[in-house]
Amino acid sequence: MCGELRKAHVGQKVFLAGWVDRRRDLGNLIFIDLRDHTGMTQVVVSREKDPEAHEKGEQVRSEFVVGVEGEVLERSAETVNAQVATGEVEVRARRLLILNEAKTPPFAIEDETKTAEETRLRYRYLDLRRPRMQERLRLRHRAALAVREHLSEHKFVEVETPFMTRSTPEGARDFLVPSRIQHGKFYALPQSPQLFKQLLMIGGTDRYFQIVRCFRDEDFRADRQAEFTQVDIEMAFPEREALFEIIEGLMEKLWALAGVQIERPFPHLTYDEAMERFGSDKPDLRFGLEWRQIAVPAAAREKLRLFESLKAMRLPKLAEISRSQLDRLQDFARTTSADWFSYFKVSGRGIQSPLGKVIGDEAVKALAEGIGAEPGDLVLLLGIKKSGTTSPRTTRSSADRRLDEASGVLRLEAARRFELIPKGGWHFAWIVDFPMFEFDEKEKRFNAMHHPFTSPQEEDLEKLESDPGDVKALAYDLVLNGSEIGGGSIRIHRQDIQRRVFKALGMTEEQARARFGFFLDALEYGTPPHGGIALGFDRIVALLSGESNIREVIAFPKTASAVDLMCEAPAEVDSRQLDELGIRIK
Ligand code: ASP
Repeated sequence: MCGELRKAHVGQKVFLAGWVDRRRDLGNLIFIDLRDHTGMTQVVVSREKDPEAHEKGEQVRSEFVVGVEGEVLERSAETVNAQVATGEVEVRARRLLILNEAKTPPFAIEDETKTAEETRLRYRYLDLRRPRMQERLRLRHRAALAVREHLSEHKFVEVETPFMTRSTPEGARDFLVPSRIQHGKFYALPQSPQLFKQLLMIGGTDRYFQIVRCFRDEDFRADRQAEFTQVDIEMAFPEREALFEIIEGLMEKLWALAGVQIERPFPHLTYDEAMERFGSDKPDLRFGLEWRQIAVPAAAREKLRLFESLKAMRLPKLAEISRSQLDRLQDFARTTSADWFSYFKVSGRGIQSPLGKVIGDEAVKALAEGIGAEPGDLVLLLGIKKSGTTSPRTTRSSADRRLDEASGVLRLEAARRFELIPKGGWHFAWIVDFPMFEFDEKEKRFNAMHHPFTSPQEEDLEKLESDPGDVKALAYDLVLNGSEIGGGSIRIHRQDIQRRVFKALGMTEEQARARFGFFLDALEYGTPPHGGIALGFDRIVALLSGESNIREVIAFPKTASAVDLMCEAPAEVDSRQLDELGIRIK
């Protein structure tokens, strides 16, 4: 291969094939850098010694596909290239075969590229020739192998489930496939194999996994793909901790592929804790900034009586941050869901805050004391004003939730602006005890926070009808450095509970039967307790390769608006196809 030759090969006869990376014509000598995915070798063609090969060498251009037969020579000391692994040798071409020609590519095939992503995607087959893309694809392959190996060791079996099926709700729209044989009927592409993996448990498979494509028709989301890959996992007779251990072991093996030894066991945080302290259910734990919900001190109660919910965050050693930086942070805070932002700084000279003018220095001091602020601290404050509206009770009130959301966004923004995110470091955590439902303010109804097959916690069962907002689920997420990389739950395995959950979601018995009748039936034939998880494989490989964009680790990705720029999909189809399907375009 083009990246393999070393000094030890000097004198050997070799045959190399690959793409012409670069050609330099010095008249009597032509140098060709020959490339394949393993690297590059310099080939020399001499007019004097090998006239036929030299003639061919004059014709080749970048990206021509050539074969070279020749001999490995040691380079003289002054021509050694220490930058490349093959830099101590070159191949003298005795024969040169032009296997195929190439047009001049629209961009150079090299790692450092400023080429627009659109162009890269349109000519993805050329983009994939870049060594970095080759490395990513190969890392992805090794990651898939590690998954298969690890899960097989733990007695999971890989089972394929259908792509043409009925819709399973995972919170997005379905991609539909019209039936030609039964006009007016449609298959849905699976948003996940959720029901099938549960049916496999009922079918006695007991430990299942699949590296599987899932399809979700979501509106524009910058870093989502309409089709993406999950490592989908399910086990019967599950213990949450046993499952966590299997998954942590898998993470350990995956990160070892990147030469990283991760720390185990991963910490657990409840959803409420994560929301309160980090304002996010996927907290970035690489840095320690934490919010605290605060009570308004008596001294400030009169002035701050408008607030329903307040949070404060200490940023130690940042009291020196300039006024203008804080003004800009304030501008940012205005774009969040909070109603109010303020701050104070604690220094040897006392407390400085624009808030003093509003609520008085005494009240600011009381606030600072309540928070436990220390000299050197910058303290950020966020608030939500009282509103007249009331929604059904949830584990956190709707004001709390708005405050959580804003505090999470502001925490990340402050960390970014003040450069508090350390480079490197992998901080995994399990987020547990999610609420079972979330209240949709627009639709005025409850939705499943994970999905409707997730089991409520045993002790909350009685609240399913009376106080659904307060029911906790046996659901969990795996988060890493601020990304959710997996999510799952212990499932409902009793039909009566499944029916109650459908009902809590506003489905009538008839609606539930029409959509999930087959599944409700199955639950009645001896369903073992079961649970599982799905891991975001694209995201994991992206993180492993130090990429923030999952398109970089997918061979043929689509744009954020779900377009394949290379094949130009989606595309129109001819009217005969539509006729056969009984479809007319409105
Ligand atoms: N089906 C779920 C999802 O795709 C994962 C799970 O609950 O196992 O998010």
